[in-house]
Amino acid sequence: METIWIEKDALAEAASLLKKGEVVTFPTETVYGLGADATNETAVKKVYEAKNRPADNPLIIHVASIDQARAYAQEVPEKAEKIMAAFWPGPCTIVLKKQGPLAATVTAGLDTVGIRMPNHPIALELIRLTGKPLAAPSANSSGKPSPTSAAHVAHDLNGKIAGIVEGGETGVGLESTVLDLSDPSQPTILRPGGVSQEEIEAVIGPVRFKTNVGHQSEIPTAPGMKYTHYAPVEPVMIVSEKGLGWKKAIEIAQGKGEVVGLLAFDHTIRQYADEQTISFSLGENGDVISASQRLFKGLRYFEDTEATIILAEPVERAGIGEAYMNRLEKSAASTFI
Ligand code: AMP
Ligand code: MG
Repeated sequence: METIWIEKDALAEAASLLKKGEVVTFPTETVYGLGADATNETAVKKVYEAKNRPADNPLIIHVASIDQARAYAQEVPEKAEKIMAAFWPGPCTIVLKKQGPLAATVTAGLDTVGIRMPNHPIALELIRLTGKPLAAPSANSSGKPSPTSAAHVAHDLNGKIAGIVEGGETGVGLESTVLDLSDPSQPTILRPGGVSQEEIEAVIGPVRFKTNVGHQSEIPTAPGMKYTHYAPVEPVMIVSEKGLGWKKAIEIAQGKGEVVGLLAFDHTIRQYADEQTISFSLGENGDVISASQRLFKGLRYFEDTEATIILAEPVERAGIGEAYMNRLEKSAASTFI
């Protein structure tokens, strides 16, 4: 299939493809999404196919207004009303009991649905023009780092999808927070993201945090939790303060003949880069907003270099730092050195 590039002022063309049941990728404030009409079974199946996404990992539906969201939830509990009022449009997905004419594969057969209203003019306009909620997972091949630019999307999906709407680099750089409110007495963060636990608790009070599947036999609440994620070609290792430290970690890797990629803040790169290392900056020392924006881009960057291993810098687990560490740990299969 030929993948066509669509300028942001030609969204009617993208909407017309979506209405015909085709798959089109578009920018959101988090990462690029791979969109399909969420009410069209055939269209939604194409999303799973293009991404090679496991069929039991449900998709988030994207709406252009709070009213549109109501049509797909059996009920909207008060806590959900408060979350929508506080964070929509924005990077917070809520999981509610589903209703309405959604394709069964969108929710992977669950009786709940993840819904969010993205904070991006192109995404909102495209949903409005299509007149349907858009099922839209991150527009990467399953298992790869999520795309923060149209070029990343093309790298993974060119020839497999009908269109790519070009909209520059994304702002947040990490995916939305997934907040399960299907049982409002037990609000649970299934995935940390662009809106922090602290921010959510300021609005609805205490929430539980569920990041990892405990035992193999346990059924994961966010089905996505059990799969390999965000992994570039090279192995990733997180250089923690309590571990080897940068100097030693680089020495050992180079001693084994590795070409080291440094995914780190400027000051770390200034201190430890040498003629043999390859660097990608996360930004100024400790700037977690910038680190979040650049993480996926950085992980992808090394694929086109000689690097054979990536040494990555952790951040403090506060605010969006929690989401950054969640993604980095998954890309590194939790390898700290
Ligand atoms: P992605 O679309 O790649 O950003 O991933 C969406 C994430 O939301 C995955 O981790 C899904 O498992 C999770 N998700 C989507 N819908 C639901 C749902 N109804 N219940 C629980 N988790 C969901
Ligand atoms: Mg994804």
